[in-house]
Amino acid sequence: MYIAMVSAECAPVAKAGGLGDFVHGLSREIAIRGHGVEIFLPKYDSLRFDRITGMTKVYRDLWVPFYDQWIHCDVDHGEVDGLSCFFIDEHAPQAFFRRGKIYGDRDDAERFAFFSRAVMEYLLKADKRPDIIHCNDWQTGLIPVLLFEIYQGLGMTNTRACFTLHNMGHQGVVGENILRQVGLRPERLMVAERLQDPRNHRAVNLMKGGIVFSNYVTTVSPRYAWEIQHTDQGMGLQGLLQLHDRKFGGVLNGIDDAVWNPELDTHIPQTYGPDTLPLKAVNKRALRERLGLQDAFKPIVCVVSRLDGQKGVHLIRHGIYYALEQGCQVVLLGSAPDPVVQADFLRIKQEMESSPDCHLELAYDEELSHLIYAGADVILIPSVYEPCGLTQMIAMKYGVVPVVRRVGGLADTVFDANYSDKAFEERNGYLFDDLTEAGLESALGRAIGLWLRFPEYFRQLRVNGMRADNSWSRPGQQYLDIYQHICA
Ligand code: ADP
Repeated sequence: MYIAMVSAECAPVAKAGGLGDFVHGLSREIAIRGHGVEIFLPKYDSLRFDRITGMTKVYRDLWVPFYDQWIHCDVDHGEVDGLSCFFIDEHAPQAFFRRGKIYGDRDDAERFAFFSRAVMEYLLKADKRPDIIHCNDWQTGLIPVLLFEIYQGLGMTNTRACFTLHNMGHQGVVGENILRQVGLRPERLMVAERLQDPRNHRAVNLMKGGIVFSNYVTTVSPRYAWEIQHTDQGMGLQGLLQLHDRKFGGVLNGIDDAVWNPELDTHIPQTYGPDTLPLKAVNKRALRERLGLQDAFKPIVCVVSRLDGQKGVHLIRHGIYYALEQGCQVVLLGSAPDPVVQADFLRIKQEMESSPDCHLELAYDEELSHLIYAGADVILIPSVYEPCGLTQMIAMKYGVVPVVRRVGGLADTVFDANYSDKAFEERNGYLFDDLTEAGLESALGRAIGLWLRFPEYFRQLRVNGMRADNSWSRPGQQYLDIYQHICA
């Protein structure tokens, strides 16, 4: 099969969160299984160009229709970890991809609508006829619409669309003019069963477009699939997802074990595995040294997260103080897009400046994240909602015990040490339900207590997590089954 993977992110060259890991990990798994996969991304000025090899221009003068103009683009090609990537290089007066960042501008919808049209135009002009176009999140929600409304008529007759929902919290709800900009007809599409937003009838919902027009829709965990069909986590699209139930399912994400593997990791001073667990202590010392923490008989509780309402920032804040009170050390690596949240955590950071037991790093730092996973004992993930969550799976791989809220993919991957119906060998962490400080303490307190009083059990929990298979192998096969199903 030939799969075109289209996304706003791909790790490590353009990553803001789990979407980047997904595109990289799934593409790699598909390629390993002998299928053709090509990734299509915007050529952001903020790309990690140092991680791209053999960047060359492969298509000159791609003129993309956009509203009443033609926008001049070139297409570059390069390899990212052996994966074939195409980068749309626009020369628009609006400088769509030259903003120094991936997201966060007022015209994001327009930027990614343009990207969607440009990818389709390139596939057509370069005579690429993928079996599957796999689109991700609202940024590429117009691609299935463009495929079936325009490009099928231009000869892309056998191509099918698969659409993955990574986060219902962002749906791309904008004015209907966006449709005219990419050459679609609002009078045809602005109806309830197509792209009209269910909450604001004058707006179009780009994620809804992807859902309605794709041949198959997935989301990133079975539990989240249920939550977005049956609770308000669907954020207005519950009814639509129920309507399209026959072409909708949850596939749990994997983690890329070439990137996240304590036995091979080149970012950490000491590699280790489940059979050489005592070596993890070397990384714990290195982490303390790097962040100026004292060497003491204390567990390290960590947080590696976007500091965003979705992640339960109020409980993260409480978790820091609670863990310190309980005699732990705390390390937080987080970036806050919201200046109010950023200021709040900056204040905590300043308060902790002289503490030998706490360090907050308010930045996005991939390398440091590896050392934190390698050095920490417990990871705290008190999310309000969590479509899949990768940090708990990565942490478990590194022998860190997760303390998580029972939502979305967290509930599908973490099994409580005390209250799970799983066999002991499958239990790997601690869960809580209530989105309250008491809820968090009920789980974090048990994890800390186990570390302090029953080190042998704690070691066993770590090993259970390290041995769990959260690789891309199973989900990779599930996606191939879906591709085959919709091509049949
Ligand atoms: P989301 O996609 O909602 O941000 P996930 O848990 O699915 O959350 O994925 C988060 C990914 O981003 C993980 O690979 C995690 O290690 C990484 N990450 C999050 N915050 C940071 C940060 N501040 N610095 C480095 N990596 C981070």
